[in-house]
Amino acid sequence: LQLDGLLMQNEDQSYMGMLFLLQDVTAYRRLENMRSEFVANVSHELKTPVAAVKGFAETLLGGGVTDEKTARSFLQIIYDESERLNRLISDILDLSKIESKRSPMDFAPVHVSSFFASMLETMRTVAQKKRITLHGDIPDELFLEADEDKLRQICINLLSNAVSYTQDGGRVEFIVRDKLDEEGNEKVTITVSDTGIGIPRKDLPRIFERFYRVDKARSRGSGGTGLGLSIVKHLVELHHGTISVESELSIGTSFTVELPLMQESEM
Ligand code: ADP
Repeated sequence: LQLDGLLMQNEDQSYMGMLFLLQDVTAYRRLENMRSEFVANVSHELKTPVAAVKGFAETLLGGGVTDEKTARSFLQIIYDESERLNRLISDILDLSKIESKRSPMDFAPVHVSSFFASMLETMRTVAQKKRITLHGDIPDELFLEADEDKLRQICINLLSNAVSYTQDGGRVEFIVRDKLDEEGNEKVTITVSDTGIGIPRKDLPRIFERFYRVDKARSRGSGGTGLGLSIVKHLVELHHGTISVESELSIGTSFTVELPLMQESEM
């Protein structure tokens, strides 16, 4: 609580009274804290790849590396870290646009089977590199009202995580269903499940937080920014949907997104 006092005087400067203002500033302070924590996190996340780029470039410029193989491996690190920086910056910009509502929704009917089929084709190349079987089960002749670009980002983020956190030779399933909920509203559920490393129970409530990673080393190794799921959650909410997760260590993880078939204002 914040207390402010103001002395009230009559026109002849004589004492009239005191005005006290007692304000609950908890919400404001919390927002301020979140903001400065976010800036601190962003700076930390950006510093790591910048330090790597600078360090390896300095070593190369110093001329101490004479054999070509080592020099090339240093250049590869510089390239990979620049790519990471790129991903980080674009994720941070996406998130800040979504959070400050500068990303208007462009709802239009999406033909479910052709949209998801083409998206799965894109992901197949990535999955094949790890010999992961990518299985899709998508209904025909269904239209979903959504912002196509944002829906694609939701699915690509979930599918890339499923592929990243699954060992070579594993399996990733992508299942789309339409159903009626208890109130009789038409819904579409999108389930992405994998046979990967799983998420410990204690971490499950936190994985949608910005920059939260179960295993920092593993996430960095797979090129992750720690922002993917946070972006997904926001985009799902912009579609008035929900997201849930179930996971078992060393068995696998399953994310389910539930979206209304039609957006309210358009019905
Ligand atoms: P990242 O860029 O690190 O993947 P995300 O926000 O996408 O960030 O995910 C947050 C964390 O949740 C990841 O670091 C990882 O530990 C965990 N995670 C996300 N998806 C999966 C999955 N399919 N299997 C296992 N762990 C996952």
